[in-house]
Amino acid sequence: MFRAILIDKNEQGYGASLTMLDDTRLPDSDVTVDVAYSTLNYKDGLAITGKAPVVRRFPMVPGIDLAGVVQSSSHPRYKPGDKVLLNGWGVGETHWGGLAQRARLKGDWLIPVPDAFSLKQAMAIGTAGYTAMLCILALERHGVRPDQGEIVVTGASGGVGSVAVAVLSKLGYEVVAVTGRTEEEPYLKGLGASHVLSREDFSSPGKPLGKERWAGAIDTVGSHTLANICATMRYRGVVTACGLAAGMDLPATVAPFILRNVTLAGIDSVMCPRDDRIQAWARLATDLDVRKLDSICKEVGLADAIDLATQLLEGKIRGRLVVDVN
Ligand code: NDP
Repeated sequence: MFRAILIDKNEQGYGASLTMLDDTRLPDSDVTVDVAYSTLNYKDGLAITGKAPVVRRFPMVPGIDLAGVVQSSSHPRYKPGDKVLLNGWGVGETHWGGLAQRARLKGDWLIPVPDAFSLKQAMAIGTAGYTAMLCILALERHGVRPDQGEIVVTGASGGVGSVAVAVLSKLGYEVVAVTGRTEEEPYLKGLGASHVLSREDFSSPGKPLGKERWAGAIDTVGSHTLANICATMRYRGVVTACGLAAGMDLPATVAPFILRNVTLAGIDSVMCPRDDRIQAWARLATDLDVRKLDSICKEVGLADAIDLATQLLEGKIRGRLVVDVN
């Protein structure tokens, strides 16, 4: 038997509860993992509360992230005792996920935990941190370098934002953090931000083009914020868009793209190919100061995750929540 959060939808409605399950309920697949830690990401908040149709099959164990130890495996790459992590691939949406003490998954989805990280540190980074790294790799791929000017990070106090600020500053970029919680300025400067700006400066409808400022951008927010950032990019600047915390819309014009040669690069972590994941985790191992994870991450128990999901969606959680499932 193992403990898990289970989401169900029936005549009584949609709900998540902490429950005991036995191994026979686990889905078919080739690797069984004893989970040590999972996390709460924005998407897990949507799944647990039912605020968006993230869960596609019921009942569902949520949790798009997990780190743990292989218990049994028929996959050639893994054997019992191996430390593995998982991000995405529809886990916690269409396949039972990480907010449980045990999971059964496709070996092709797993990644060995880099030696630089403990299981807990791997989850302190989690999908949010790995997505931040995918954004930074995209900036680099499009030619952005530290001497070209400031990088703006929105939703900076959240999970993706916090790791993005920490990694960019270690790489030598001048980072401007945009937040709705300006009281978090000491936290954001501690992670390496040079300046902190208020979310309000970005969240209203703006002009098609504004004064050129940013060499690069990591946007977790979408909507008017993303439109205003595109409008204030420097010539040939690069915007990476990974999130929708303010909305899914993009009320922008083509002006920044056709007059300033701005690149808008989309970032998806869920179906990202394995080689890119390995590269992102390898770069996190070298380019993230793990001491900063202490201020970014808070540990909580499996029983707390359900209540915290609502607070996460309300933007009340700073940094990352790591869930000790045991
Ligand atoms: P968090 O909830 O940890 O962070 C989101 C942050 O956005 C908040 O902390 C807050 O930061 C800001 N925010 C919240 N609500 C609003 C609002 N209404 N208007 C403007 N800003 C707001 O989430 P994550 O960091 O885990 O994820 C961030 C986004 O990225 C989410 O939309 C998520 O779905 C998406 N995502 C996408 C991935 C992909 O593969 N494309 C992978 C991972 C995440 P502050 O208080 O500092 O303003």
